[in-house]
Amino acid sequence: MPDNPRPPAARETRRGLLLILSSPSGAGKSTLTRNLVREDHSIRLSVSVTTRGRRPSEIDGVHYRFIEKDDFEGLRDRGDLLEWAEVHGNFYGTPRKPVEQALAAGEDMMFDIDWQGTRQIVEKMDEDVVSVFILPPSLQELRARLERRAEDSPEVIARRLRNARDEIAHWGAYDYVLVNDDLNRTYMDLKSILAAERLRRARRTGLKGFVDGLLGEGT
Ligand code: 5GP
Repeated sequence: MPDNPRPPAARETRRGLLLILSSPSGAGKSTLTRNLVREDHSIRLSVSVTTRGRRPSEIDGVHYRFIEKDDFEGLRDRGDLLEWAEVHGNFYGTPRKPVEQALAAGEDMMFDIDWQGTRQIVEKMDEDVVSVFILPPSLQELRARLERRAEDSPEVIARRLRNARDEIAHWGAYDYVLVNDDLNRTYMDLKSILAAERLRRARRTGLKGFVDGLLGEGT
């Protein structure tokens, strides 16, 4: 043990943040969120409830909680959803409790939600929100990605492309905008945003105690 150990700056407490990612379907958002939660154990992905049918590759409780419309309405009407929206003809919503628990514990949460949900969370918890919009390099590339995924019918793909323009129209409401023409590059940018936002003075509730200790140290 050194005689004069350094103050525990690394254990400094901090307020959790809410990292919201929005984009039109197929812009690469779910790959980015999946990679980030796998690599960074200080952030958790919010699992939404939805009335949409499960895609073959999706696992109930992991990608979404797939529920019936009646159950969705029950959650919504009891106030158990932090936000909810109708997207592409289905209902989607964010369960409130896990978000409140994460924030109270100083953990970060990530959300893959549309512009309507982002607006609702910003209205309620503006100070804790960091919002990022992911743009595709072109609409042609977006169509190619949706077709490559081959998990949706041609009608569903056509509908998603029509809705892409509406989603993109809301890019101006976000703190950060990334053009995903290179997934690795976009991922690095996303990690940089998160790293910088975690260092914001306003979120670092333990900093004052650390600085007081620093100033009280004998020299
Ligand atoms: P998908 O059906 O492709 O999984 O998602 C369609 C859209 O719904 C995506 O833009 C996704 O971000 C959005 N979405 C997913 N979960 C939620 C949610 O809980 N709330 C809101 N507002 N949008 C969501």
